[in-house]
Amino acid sequence: MSKRGRLELLSKHKKLLTSNVLRWYGKNGRDLPWRNEHDPYRVLLSEVMLQQTQVSRVLTKYPQFLKRFPSFKRLAEAKTSDVIKAWEGMGYNNRALRLQKLAEVVLDKYQGKLPRDIQQLETLPGIGRYTAHAVACFSFGQRVPIVDTNIRRVLTRVCPPGGRGRSPEEEETWTLAESFLPRRHAHDWNQALMDLGATICTAALPKCDHCPLVSLCPSAHQVRRKKPAVRKSEPGNGGIPNRIFRGRTIQALRKLKSRQTIATSVLAFRIKPDFQSTDRRWFESLLGGLEKDGLIRRVARRRVSLPE
Ligand code: SF4
Repeated sequence: MSKRGRLELLSKHKKLLTSNVLRWYGKNGRDLPWRNEHDPYRVLLSEVMLQQTQVSRVLTKYPQFLKRFPSFKRLAEAKTSDVIKAWEGMGYNNRALRLQKLAEVVLDKYQGKLPRDIQQLETLPGIGRYTAHAVACFSFGQRVPIVDTNIRRVLTRVCPPGGRGRSPEEEETWTLAESFLPRRHAHDWNQALMDLGATICTAALPKCDHCPLVSLCPSAHQVRRKKPAVRKSEPGNGGIPNRIFRGRTIQALRKLKSRQTIATSVLAFRIKPDFQSTDRRWFESLLGGLEKDGLIRRVARRRVSLPE
């Protein structure tokens, strides 16, 4: 059946599809502390944290970070080194920097209040289409679709794109999400699709027998386990990706006391115990990248610390 035919058929069953999913969510939705939050800062923080970190880790770090930085104001006025320290264990430290920059913009340009307009939200540091829509829906109650990895998977299985094995273009998936969006309960609907993708319609082994969409889904019991995708080789050293060494560098700097610095010659061995003279150029480039991102500060030519 063509995609158009499939869409028409599904739109006929939209009511059933929506009520099945919402009922399933009512019984099986995950109990997550940010679920019933509407405060824009708290919603945004949870979304940024969840971007590249597992839910189990965010569950621990979210309340800790909130306790330390409970508002845009407190975050904007904090020392950057303290924000990076509080981000410990989350990975991808650039997010902490962008979050603080965002807080500064919100304070300077929007009197400490996150704008409600999606286009304005998307101009803020670190906010892409997904996060802007998530904040608009979960915090401001707007009826807008959301597409993240989990939702994309569910939607494209329920309504597969035309053409064998063709992956849907991003815009097409957003249009699909828009067409499925119910008139009411957009918040619960988006949360429900996320949970469905995370717990039932998983990438490798979907549990179709437990899925509220099984009677409507053309992919039910059809998804075969795919060979794990071969990861593109990342730049690194000795088989270890640079992102690991970046994480180790920030971790070593987190341990310094306030205003303390460390010699790069010492730092080199902290992050790579078998450091050799042939690694020098690579190490300098690693530090250069971190400095350019604003994650470290060169105090003198051969000493570094976290930014103030
Ligand atoms: S029936 Fe199976 S493939 Fe279809 S949405 Fe549900 S879990 Fe995914």
